[in-house]
Amino acid sequence: MSFLTSVLDHLKSFWTENLLPAAKTLIRKTRKEEPLRLPAPFTPDEDADTKQYEAHPSSAYMMLKMIFRDIGRYNAVIETLGRDFLTAMPKGAYKSRLGQIGFLHRRRHEEVANPQVAAFIEEAHAHEKSSPESWDEWDHANLREIEILYRHHCQVDPELIERRARLGYEGRRVHRDVMRNNDWDTARPFLEDMIDLTRRIAESKCLRDNEHDTESPYQALMREYIPGFRIADIETLFGQMTKKLDDLLPQILDKQAKEDAPIPLKGPFPETQQMWLNETLLRAIGFDFSRGGLYETGFNPVEGGTPEDTHLVIKSVNESNFLISMKSTLHEGGHGLYVQGLPRDVWRYQPVGHDMGNAWHESQALMIEMILGRRREFFEYLAPRVEGLFQKFGDPSMSAENLYKLKTRVRKTADRKTADEVTYFHHINLRFELERKLFSGALEVKDLPEAWDAQMDKTFGDMPESSCMGCLQDVHWFVGKFGYFPSYALGHMIAAQLYTVMRKDIQNIPELLSEGNLIPVRDWLNHKVHKQGRLRRPGALIEEITGGPLTPAPLLAHFEERYLHSV
Ligand SMILES: [Zn+2]
Repeated sequence: MSFLTSVLDHLKSFWTENLLPAAKTLIRKTRKEEPLRLPAPFTPDEDADTKQYEAHPSSAYMMLKMIFRDIGRYNAVIETLGRDFLTAMPKGAYKSRLGQIGFLHRRRHEEVANPQVAAFIEEAHAHEKSSPESWDEWDHANLREIEILYRHHCQVDPELIERRARLGYEGRRVHRDVMRNNDWDTARPFLEDMIDLTRRIAESKCLRDNEHDTESPYQALMREYIPGFRIADIETLFGQMTKKLDDLLPQILDKQAKEDAPIPLKGPFPETQQMWLNETLLRAIGFDFSRGGLYETGFNPVEGGTPEDTHLVIKSVNESNFLISMKSTLHEGGHGLYVQGLPRDVWRYQPVGHDMGNAWHESQALMIEMILGRRREFFEYLAPRVEGLFQKFGDPSMSAENLYKLKTRVRKTADRKTADEVTYFHHINLRFELERKLFSGALEVKDLPEAWDAQMDKTFGDMPESSCMGCLQDVHWFVGKFGYFPSYALGHMIAAQLYTVMRKDIQNIPELLSEGNLIPVRDWLNHKVHKQGRLRRPGALIEEITGGPLTPAPLLAHFEERYLHSV
């Protein structure tokens, strides 16, 4: 028996140490030499007359369009599986689903990172130079975005991508469980594995900044979520925010301390009525239910899908406070309008038809949730309706004024999700600083709770009650999203800057809000942002719409106007 065991052990180690690496090298070598499995370019199954299928004299570009059409189809399938994972999947399917999702991520990655894609890009660029008359601005932009995607993925080992996809979905479940039990001992090794894996991916994504320097792994990660922004740009913008908020926040707290505190809501607010309200509000902002839906989950909220099948997933409603699911619905609804408004009726799956990255995505969510959804007139529309819906006639906590006060109360809190609009930035800045330290090696996971609490204490003078309220509260790091957090603060700045132009173009926004009609707002956003896809680079789009580069000034002016000057 022991002889047999030792033979088996020997065979096993021979396989892992010798045969497996050799097989992998052989597979990789063969894959490079093997011709690309070419897509069928002229068999459109949908919208044959769109730009996606329009004949182009560069055959290399035509091939790229078909390859990226198929990559887009992978995306759509992955999105659908992900929605099902969160909302409908039976427990017993958990493991097999992780395998399916990991496999699809790997296949999608292999399609993008194929060396033949690089050859087609080079050939298409040559055509672009020799026959510029055949290339309109959308085709130029599409080729540019194809190249950016290729460069972002080409050096990453497909195995790492598969592992990250699996670990990311496992992370949703781990996060839900550790939050329930405030279980740092389970969270710590999971986060260590996730950071280790993400760092390996980041290191293979690093591009050369110039002849001598290579970008940092954190910058490489951020590029995926916030294209067009450099760490140094964000540090400058965040520095300006911090400085001005140091002055504004005490004044706001002081002003509110002198006012009557809002009256807390008295539940219950039954789930069916809350979901009816949330769907009604989504219709008011112009979300199209024939091309999307609102779902509840036991996990954290997400949004995504395609313009024809957009899913907004919010956390199961809390029956003691309808404002929580309403906030999430308005936020996800803003994201949903962006997804539904993308130019995919023309560009379908092409990279130029994608959104502008997460800072812009968050700007659309925060425009609806915070900039517009916390205006006094919105609560004038809401109050009489919720009073009737929840049968709370004459309840003073349900008045427009009180609901407005509840949603604009500024407090120092340890919880990002319930943070107010003014202190929200500090929550983001804290995460931006800590995740950079985690990736530079200046901070180890084991020291994270202490570093988090110390930073929170420094910012607010208010220690979180437990790890659950501290470094465990966000799902982002558990799903491998490092470099995402700055999107929220940048998105808030973008939203405020866009709003300065929108309010000039649509002068009756207050009346529209009090009537519960945001269709003109949706159409404005659609025209200026959604329909643009990735035609422009992010910095160029903000300049085109607002006439200047992104600055925190409009957001800070918005805080002064709403929190200091309004009565
Ligand atoms: Zn969001």
